[in-house]
Amino acid sequence: MTTIKRIDPRRPFVIAASGLKRITLGEERAGDAADAAMFAAPLGAHAPAPKPKRAYEAGVRTLLAVAHSDRGALDEHARQALAAAAILADARTEVALLVFGELTDDAAALGADKVVQLPLLARPAFAPDKTLAALCDCVDAFAPAHIFMPDNATGDGDLGRRYAARARASIATHVVEIDAEHVGCYVDAGRAFATRSLPDVILLDPEAVSAKLPFVGAGEAVALRTDGAAERRHDAGRYADRGTAQLDAAQVALEEADFIISAGNGVTDIAAFETLARTLGAAIGASRVAVDNGHFTRDKQVGATGKTVNASVYIAFGISGAVQHLQGIKDCRHVIAVNLDASAPIAKRANLTVVADAQSTMRALTDAVGEAKQGGHSHAGAAASTNVREGLAA
Ligand SMILES: Cc1cc2nc3c(=O)[nH]c(=O)nc-3n(C[C@H](O)[C@H](O)[C@H](O)COP(=O)(O)OP(=O)(O)OC[C@H]3O[C@@H](n4cnc5c(N)ncnc54)[C@H](O)[C@@H]3O)c2cc1C
Repeated sequence: MTTIKRIDPRRPFVIAASGLKRITLGEERAGDAADAAMFAAPLGAHAPAPKPKRAYEAGVRTLLAVAHSDRGALDEHARQALAAAAILADARTEVALLVFGELTDDAAALGADKVVQLPLLARPAFAPDKTLAALCDCVDAFAPAHIFMPDNATGDGDLGRRYAARARASIATHVVEIDAEHVGCYVDAGRAFATRSLPDVILLDPEAVSAKLPFVGAGEAVALRTDGAAERRHDAGRYADRGTAQLDAAQVALEEADFIISAGNGVTDIAAFETLARTLGAAIGASRVAVDNGHFTRDKQVGATGKTVNASVYIAFGISGAVQHLQGIKDCRHVIAVNLDASAPIAKRANLTVVADAQSTMRALTDAVGEAKQGGHSHAGAAASTNVREGLAA
């Protein structure tokens, strides 16, 4: 399945390692090939090209990319901000990455030469002053020439603005065009385009930069040495983090649910399915056929003409995996299929396929989870959780 991105007619290009790359529908591969050719090592006939490591002279100049991770990964927007730094880095510049939260991605493959992880300042924790203090410490440590961040509404955009205000740094927001000399963004409600020389802080809009790099960075993990000076500059106790509230999974909008179980035409025992959802604390989704059959309301439909979901775990019971359904789960991290047919299309997308009857699997899972919750780990419970873990690791 090819995914063709919607194109903003005013932005017919993105910035890639090979320079401005014109977006032409269906021709993305040609552009990628041009990028790869710039740095490519000689290839074996069939071997995928190992990407060369970008060479640089350490300790001369640093570009710093900063982003929050989401469940251990950088999203595409954050990767683009890091790629912008890597693309603009010359042979005397190293690229440092500061991640708020854990990072299980390969930072070298994303273009970073040095990586600082701050797992205690992950996104769910509301600690704007500590986050700002940590960024100040990191800037003190690396003295970057420029800071690159995704201009998002989930923490990074706010942090970049707060940093610029505190450090009295120059800043450009909603940047859609960038090269080694200038940044550009739309102003006046999109009626005009403004450019300026590279400021200290660059907050990038999505899709301004291609995250595909023809090289890798050094990816060296670095501990951030902090004497707490930056943190002491901030007043403590001006606000309290009241934590996050636990919502009933059924109340969460499907698009926001992190754990979804979904029923298709192969699910006949709807009561058992709903019991399992309650037991697991999972939100409910359904295929179009299951909705058309009247088993679920239309707002539960996942797919091209339903909801696009973004769960960490998506369990599809009795769903064949038609292309329209797969479109709705393309952003899910782990897909588990339960299907009588091992050759159903969903098996190609799934990280784990359980070839079994949906009804008996749902009942076994409900029993296993119920027993585990009561503290008694039965043999069945242990077996069920082992299977799921094996699948996720695969
Ligand atoms: C324009 C258009 C838009 C569409 N939009 C959507 C959409 O948004 N979302 C969507 O889902 N579909 C959509 N569809 C429909 C889509 O093409 C499929 O028809 C639909 O997804 C099939 O649903 P299903 O997999 O539940 O049913 P089926 O195709 O009937 O598959 C049932 C599956 O369950 C398995 N099975 C059967 N019995 C059992 C059992 N006892 N235990 C375990 N497994 C069992 C079977 O092996 C099979 O793989 C759209 C179609 C069109 C034309």
